[in-house]
Amino acid sequence: MSSPRALHFRGARIIDPLSQRDETGELLVVNDTIQSIAFGGRVDAPKHAEVIECAGAILCPGLIDPHVHLREPGGEAKETILTGTQSAAAGGFTTVCCMPNTSPCLDTAMSVRFVEGRAAAAASARVFVVGAATVSRKGEQLAPMASMAHAGAVAFSDDGDGIASAGMMRRVLEVCRSLDRAFMQHCQDASLSEGGLVNEGSVATRLGLAPWPRDAEEVMLERDLRLNGRLDARYHAQHLSSGGSARILREARARLGADRAHRISGEASPHHLLLTCDACEGYNTGAKMNPPLRTQWDINELKLAIADGTIDVLATDHAPHTIAEKSRDFASAPFGIIGLECALALYTKALVEDGVIDWPRLVCLLTLQPARLCGLDRRVAGIGTLTVGGVADLTLIDPQQKWTIRADAFKSKSRNCPFDGLSVRGKAILTIRAGEVLFREDPVAQPQRAAVATGS
Ligand SMILES: [Zn+2]
Ligand SMILES: [Zn+2]
Repeated sequence: MSSPRALHFRGARIIDPLSQRDETGELLVVNDTIQSIAFGGRVDAPKHAEVIECAGAILCPGLIDPHVHLREPGGEAKETILTGTQSAAAGGFTTVCCMPNTSPCLDTAMSVRFVEGRAAAAASARVFVVGAATVSRKGEQLAPMASMAHAGAVAFSDDGDGIASAGMMRRVLEVCRSLDRAFMQHCQDASLSEGGLVNEGSVATRLGLAPWPRDAEEVMLERDLRLNGRLDARYHAQHLSSGGSARILREARARLGADRAHRISGEASPHHLLLTCDACEGYNTGAKMNPPLRTQWDINELKLAIADGTIDVLATDHAPHTIAEKSRDFASAPFGIIGLECALALYTKALVEDGVIDWPRLVCLLTLQPARLCGLDRRVAGIGTLTVGGVADLTLIDPQQKWTIRADAFKSKSRNCPFDGLSVRGKAILTIRAGEVLFREDPVAQPQRAAVATGS
């Protein structure tokens, strides 16, 4: 009889957001499970275990991205479930939640099962489906949310569009509450953003591009929070771009009180923390985003909101598009950028290096918080945490490794990354799902880092 597979991590800085421990120690994986953790000590590892020396590296739960676009079905020229999940694993993500704005839209139980089947065949990062709340995301008729939840949808969203009708929004929140699923809103009042291409202000004026005011986001956020005040659904505002939205969310959470504040949440994305609308100068379609990049004031407000816990979920909004599509003129090019393979370094730059939050908090916002938002522990015990007996989804991070973002080297099918060529620090070097290695950095490609070596 062969011995069970075992991985013995030694000398890692182990960060667990659930127990809030952050200490050097050892961790043992046997098959798909965390067998033991020794903070400040040693685990009793079997002789045949693969030893992974981790000096200088952070060992944490596998990263979870609650907001990606995998484009399959219908957009396979941009990305597939296979390439998207391989891209995720290369960025340190063991789990992604995919948005329903595919073609056809993910608005039936059958479509949820289709994605789950493709994800199982891809055998890379886990995929959970965020189902459409309305049929074809048109905002007119409720999707069969109960059967979709039963099939595996972990949350609902019409991402790509906000739900325009207040009446429909109220019904969606009622159904989400009854199903115990989060609703994730793409806050965009289309009557305010209509035709908009860049943030309302001097850049839009100078470039002669239609303006997209902050109000388009803030008005919908305020409306939703008001509606939800009576309904108490789990409400989540995606990709916040406006400093005003951060203030609105802060006040709403304060009104709910400390024990209820977690019922509403907001999400940040790397580009809204690192780029302003100035990046659109020269009609750079690489910086064309929905919601649009805004100003340094907005960045400052969003960072304050992350620092004080108002915004407590981080995502990528990984949105692949082909080179041909992004090569069109500014008005007709699609919105969005890819992010899975550089998000960790970009969040390190925007939040840790800038002193907004520390590593343990960053880990929490990239693991436990998205797991809680989507109720993922109902599906996989211990996901988003380091729990003895729980699933061995792990990411090993070299926080000091300097590297240059090269979109050409991405596993994603697309290249639309405005950070191409940027020097950054911090990289996932080993990504493990249920004890299986999904991604391991090639040591030959990174000769300057010698912290992690594999023995026996
Ligand atoms: Zn969106
Ligand atoms: Zn999105």
